[in-house]
Amino acid sequence: MEGDKCLVLLSGGIDSSTALWWAKRRFRTVHAMTFDYGQRHSLELEYAKKLASLAGVEKHVILRLDFLAGLGRSALTNRSLEVPKGPYPDRGVISTYVPMRNSLFGVVAGAYMDANGIGDLVLGVHSEDVPNYPDTRPEWASALESLLNSGSALAFEGKKRVRVHTPLISLRKADIIRLGLSLGVPYEWTWSCYSPKDGWPCGECPTCVQRAEAFAEVGVEDPLILRLNREKKEVKDAQGTLKGGQDHP
Ligand SMILES: [Zn+2]
Repeated sequence: MEGDKCLVLLSGGIDSSTALWWAKRRFRTVHAMTFDYGQRHSLELEYAKKLASLAGVEKHVILRLDFLAGLGRSALTNRSLEVPKGPYPDRGVISTYVPMRNSLFGVVAGAYMDANGIGDLVLGVHSEDVPNYPDTRPEWASALESLLNSGSALAFEGKKRVRVHTPLISLRKADIIRLGLSLGVPYEWTWSCYSPKDGWPCGECPTCVQRAEAFAEVGVEDPLILRLNREKKEVKDAQGTLKGGQDHP
């Protein structure tokens, strides 16, 4: 056991859910925090709720930070900007970057931790995000740790030193999935797509492409797609049964 309690930032995607199941093995009590910041793929909030419930977290806090959408140009929050298609570029900040989003999330998490006596923060940042998202780099995570220590009452009073854990920082997406499968992460309840259509992922945006490639590399069918197909078939079968019943009363 790493410690008594921690906070995990949970978006509802593959990385943060893997970080959550990682934390479950290391901390007696796990809190989760999710932000509603006007993201166009707000469906991920529903997935985050489901994941928090499946993980049996002590508390799942959902906070609205909808002012973030008004601060900067990001395709993730501004519906007049198109979400790019195809794989992530090799490097360079991508239009789905939300300016300073993770730093803001980290500070808000720090406020909750300070108020609740939590010294450990777990983040799902990973190596494949680094070329396109500045606030996922190891130096960013260690700067956040320094900031939280210099600003928190917990550290100031010598009760706890704040630690920022980034267990996936050196892993690629496929490695994260391998780790998650070994930890029992229910990937059928994780959401990645930036442009959902009627509850289905678009299959074309960078995160859809990355997810599909990663599951293909692991050699496992994406459990999300399997579940959606299964549910679609169940609805179809139920409709068929109903129709059959009407035909043959
Ligand atoms: Zn997509």
